[in-house]
Amino acid sequence: MRICNRFLSAALLGSAFIGATIAAAQQTADSQPQQTTQQPAPDATPTAQPSQPIATAPAPTDSAVPQAPQSAPAAVAPAQQPAPAPVAVATAAPATTAAPATMDQVVNLFIEREHGLIKMLSNRTPVVETYLQNLENDPQLGPIPSQDHYFLGRMDMGETVDRKDYLKEQQKGMQTRLLGGFAKLYKVQYQPLGFSWMVYADRTDFDREHYEFHYIRREFLGDVRCLVFDVTPKKGSGRGRFLGRVWVEDQDYNIVRLNGTYYPAPRNSYFFHMDSWRLNLIPGYWVPSYIYSEEGDFSAGVKNKTAFKAQTRIWGYDLKKGDKDDELTQIRVDSVKDESPTAQDASPLQAEREWQQQAEDNVVERLTRAGLLAPEGDVDHILQTVVNNLEVTNNIDLPRPVRTRVLLTAPLETFSVGNTIVISRGLIDVLPDEASLAAVLSHELAHIVLGHNLGSKFAFNDRMLFSDDSTYQNLGFKHIPEEEQAADKKAVDLLKNSPYAQKLDNVGLFLKALQARATQLNALLTTHLGNPLTEGGTVNRLTALETQGPALDNTKLDQIAALPLGGRVKVNPWDDKAEMVKTAPVAITSARDKMPFEVTPFYPRLARYGANIAPNAAPTTAANTPSGN
Ligand SMILES: [Zn+2]
Repeated sequence: MRICNRFLSAALLGSAFIGATIAAAQQTADSQPQQTTQQPAPDATPTAQPSQPIATAPAPTDSAVPQAPQSAPAAVAPAQQPAPAPVAVATAAPATTAAPATMDQVVNLFIEREHGLIKMLSNRTPVVETYLQNLENDPQLGPIPSQDHYFLGRMDMGETVDRKDYLKEQQKGMQTRLLGGFAKLYKVQYQPLGFSWMVYADRTDFDREHYEFHYIRREFLGDVRCLVFDVTPKKGSGRGRFLGRVWVEDQDYNIVRLNGTYYPAPRNSYFFHMDSWRLNLIPGYWVPSYIYSEEGDFSAGVKNKTAFKAQTRIWGYDLKKGDKDDELTQIRVDSVKDESPTAQDASPLQAEREWQQQAEDNVVERLTRAGLLAPEGDVDHILQTVVNNLEVTNNIDLPRPVRTRVLLTAPLETFSVGNTIVISRGLIDVLPDEASLAAVLSHELAHIVLGHNLGSKFAFNDRMLFSDDSTYQNLGFKHIPEEEQAADKKAVDLLKNSPYAQKLDNVGLFLKALQARATQLNALLTTHLGNPLTEGGTVNRLTALETQGPALDNTKLDQIAALPLGGRVKVNPWDDKAEMVKTAPVAITSARDKMPFEVTPFYPRLARYGANIAPNAAPTTAANTPSGN
């Protein structure tokens, strides 16, 4: 498994990660014959229950295995659900297995399923993002960010680590020891792959020879009933083995969550603690999606300089894998549709607009293919509603409609190309309300209205010919300061003439909260495609509104100036679709609950594939957008 530093070079990351874990350097378990997964699809399973009724579940005991359906329902499910990626999935779909009678058999099943998952994902190269906040203790607010780091890359799920490469890296005198940890030398060195290492418990040796498995109890994670096992490495099984707990769903016996660390750590290295979650995004498989890491302790008397918390998100599993040569030969750019009613020649102005449209389409298509933009979806409906509110009340009538798209990454940024406004997932997450969303969108709308179009050079298709990992070097939509100021001025005019005019106090509060954390959150505020919201630790976006509204006051529990990351938008790691998170409001009971711009643990509500596919609730009105609490 390997990570390329793509898109950007991360702050502390001198070079790519070094080497591999001991585990990864050994032979892969994939070479073992796996007869059961080769079995043909079940011949007669029409009567199989798709899911086990929860109400009739037997009472949990430590010795008995819960009643399992007679045949593995996942083998049936693909026929009932449209499989999004039948190619790789079908070949490795779980075979029908008899219901396990003992916990020993359950262990055998989930070991086998884990190997099946590793095999199924072996040709995938998902996007991996880690955002990390170092912490310092604040008497009032508890642990707060003191600085931050950001990594973005593509992870090759299939590559077994080449021992020769590993040694070669060692010979270069590199100092780092293991992927899972960081070297405690002169400064902490975060290894981006370390944070994504817990996609699997053990890439190569997850078996009974290397581990002991102890059944603990049954437990629901979301809608999914799980069997919980403690996993400990056997004596003498080597360094860097998984030590912790796994949750195994009780239908197909896939691991859905891993929590723990690796043990023992090599000299001068250190393994993070991690909580790793998987989602049932395709039939029969639970795909690694979120990993939360945390170290440090702020209880009395403890001094720990390495305190941090970090979120790792994985998405883009369904992206085309492609090496650089592939990229160049496979590129395909859709041409602009000719929508004119009769064959007419384009006027110079029409030609100009066609040209800009072509550039815009090229960029949107290219960013989507690189796994950076979500496909058009529900979140866009909300964004477009807000944009529309601004347009209608300001009598803006553009020749082409304004579109919106979600940038899938965490750093807070917006940009526009042609008539498409792009806003990052992280920025949508932290905005406290619809007025603040309108404010950040109004800046980009102002660029469009003022004709500040930067993208037209991308109408030349040769400019789209670059590898995914160099996207950030090849695309950029930063305006000159004069255009930024003009857009801000226009944006304030638009806002004051909009349904949000009476709510600009909230925008002022958000900008104050941003200012309060601007110097600590340099990585979160470093943009990669658009203009930054801050410059040198000072907010420089919509500054005219910064004085608006009350003073920032952490002790006022009803004053929510900015939200934690991750609370608004969730991304489907398989197909990159973005949707709004549906959460019930939770009462804030202390200033420590506010956590503006902060990283929090993941706790996704687990559900089986297909269980959540409800008819579209069509949240197309702005009423469904962020509201204050
Ligand atoms: Zn701008």
